[in-house]
Amino acid sequence: MNQTKLRIHTWPEKILKTSSREVAEVTDDIRSKLDEMVILMGLNKGLGLAANQAGLDLRLVVIEFEDKIFKLVNPKIVKSEGSIKITEGCLSFPDIDIEIKRFNKVWVEALDETGQPLVIEADDILAVIFQHDIDHINGIPFIYRISFWQKLKIIPKLNRVKKATKDALRK
Ligand SMILES: [Zn+2]
Repeated sequence: MNQTKLRIHTWPEKILKTSSREVAEVTDDIRSKLDEMVILMGLNKGLGLAANQAGLDLRLVVIEFEDKIFKLVNPKIVKSEGSIKITEGCLSFPDIDIEIKRFNKVWVEALDETGQPLVIEADDILAVIFQHDIDHINGIPFIYRISFWQKLKIIPKLNRVKKATKDALRK
């Protein structure tokens, strides 16, 4: 399988501002959605993708980092420590990069694609990817994490993204 019917949803589509539904059971349907998300992430060269970015109202996150692919169901951060500040991009905000302060280390609880519970310990960039994508399924895009002054600076770019989204939806 190397195609998908899913598309990347971009700012300000409503699903990006909405907290996603908990997955009740890890079924074949959920597994195929996770696979489609991995394809969509790969096609767009992303490091992580949350289901609502793909238009799905489900608590699913996929991450590809250093040749390892995570397919997570109902992920949540259960513990965190330290701090790190790096520049982040987001497939839902093309061409916008912003520096965000986050935890340097997180512990994430989730179900894997077979429905087994797992705990992942992540630090540095991987910790940031987890926080960015778990924020997504909570309806918190990264622009909600920046200061007023940072936001002022990206307003022209943000307006371009809004316009492109509007134009694409009109088609
Ligand atoms: Zn994102």
